[in-house]
Amino acid sequence: MWLPFTQMSDYEKDPLIIASGEGVTVTDIHGKTYLDGYSSLWLNVHGHRKKELDEAIQTQLQSIAHSTLLGAANIPSILLAEKLVKLVPERLTRVFYSDSGATSVEIAVKMAYQYWQNKGLEKKTRFVTVSNGYHGDTVGTMSVGSIELYHKVYTSLLFDALVIPFPSVYRHPSGDENIVRDESLQELRLLFEERHEEIAGMVLEPMIQGAGGMNTMPAGYLKGVEKLCNEFNVLLIVDEVATGFGRTGKMFAVEHEGIQPDLMTVAKGLTGGYLPVAATFATEEIYDAFYGEYEEMKTFFHGHSYTGNQLGCAVALANLEIFEKEQLVKQSEEKSTFLKELLVNVKQLPHVGDVRQCGLMCGIEIVKDKHTKESFPLESRVAYRATLEMRKLGLLTRPLGDVIVLMPPLATSNEQLAEMVALMVEGIKAVTEESVAMDSI
Ligand code: PMP
Repeated sequence: MWLPFTQMSDYEKDPLIIASGEGVTVTDIHGKTYLDGYSSLWLNVHGHRKKELDEAIQTQLQSIAHSTLLGAANIPSILLAEKLVKLVPERLTRVFYSDSGATSVEIAVKMAYQYWQNKGLEKKTRFVTVSNGYHGDTVGTMSVGSIELYHKVYTSLLFDALVIPFPSVYRHPSGDENIVRDESLQELRLLFEERHEEIAGMVLEPMIQGAGGMNTMPAGYLKGVEKLCNEFNVLLIVDEVATGFGRTGKMFAVEHEGIQPDLMTVAKGLTGGYLPVAATFATEEIYDAFYGEYEEMKTFFHGHSYTGNQLGCAVALANLEIFEKEQLVKQSEEKSTFLKELLVNVKQLPHVGDVRQCGLMCGIEIVKDKHTKESFPLESRVAYRATLEMRKLGLLTRPLGDVIVLMPPLATSNEQLAEMVALMVEGIKAVTEESVAMDSI
């Protein structure tokens, strides 16, 4: 096998093979159990082997596992769409299924592009994105992404997006949320004023950027972006792939600022992290622009073989039922507050520069010098080594550059959260002390 996002020479040094899971733990083939601190890559919600989800799949199997959605709907996908449109911002009334976060964003980008073509505004073809944004690994989503490490090698393959700087408070000389927000929005305004006639849409992750380093936005930024998009006739595409389904303490992160995007994408938590189902939500206005007689050539020619898969939609329906029954969003909000208290101590560590949190999505940035914010040398791979330590201690997570991610399943108990944070602290201490000692030799 060739594992994704993995340097195989690293993996071969100490392979990890998972054999089973139960609740918020997974167990490897040697019988060692780990806390699932990264929600099996940001998607597990209720823990592993959730009875209701297992049963939903078994029940659906008695009817059919899969039939195509190309020109033919199926029952679980209809029921799920009906349920989803009641949960998302009210302007979003149409559901287009796909199978991964990347495809859901790729679809949103293509829809936004074709929307303007279908409306006769052919010049609107460009996309605005935010630096350090991440929307998936397909060519289209890399084009609207902006993470140098992942995307630079493909530069000549990608279409050219207009990138504006992410409003990072930690890295701004003022360190002032309001200044950072106002400056960033002003920059966006200038870009829109100059080029709105060629801009089809703006793509961003709401409230917190995930893969870019768990970067939180200043309050009011997202609302400001919405206002500018409306003013300049630019479609607002919000990527809720990581943030959706309770992860930030709200069902969707857009609720923090009450925004109404034109297109919104979800995946990961949609099935509780069980099966690959994703969705792109669109407004009625966008849907209408594609509606007409076939000869008008307005059809959205896009579809994947597994789109609308019945097993996936059935498990997503069961997932949403658990959200209601267990009041999971409220629970997530309460656990976020508890986690915030735990993270206060992490911030005190001598090599922790910044702790960023939005609900149950957290990033801990390791720095060599807390005062100057200087990083450890790239080759020291300090955050990566910290996660290897954590693994030895029984916690699974992954680094993003110098940032260690903690993104536990919503089902994690307060005791387990405390245990996860304690193991993180131990792992960070082990490698930062070691790195400083090596530096002084
Ligand atoms: N958008 C965001 C915000 C993500 O965090 C991710 C995955 N981490 C994706 C898109 C891509 O999702 P997938 O890996 O399912 O293609």
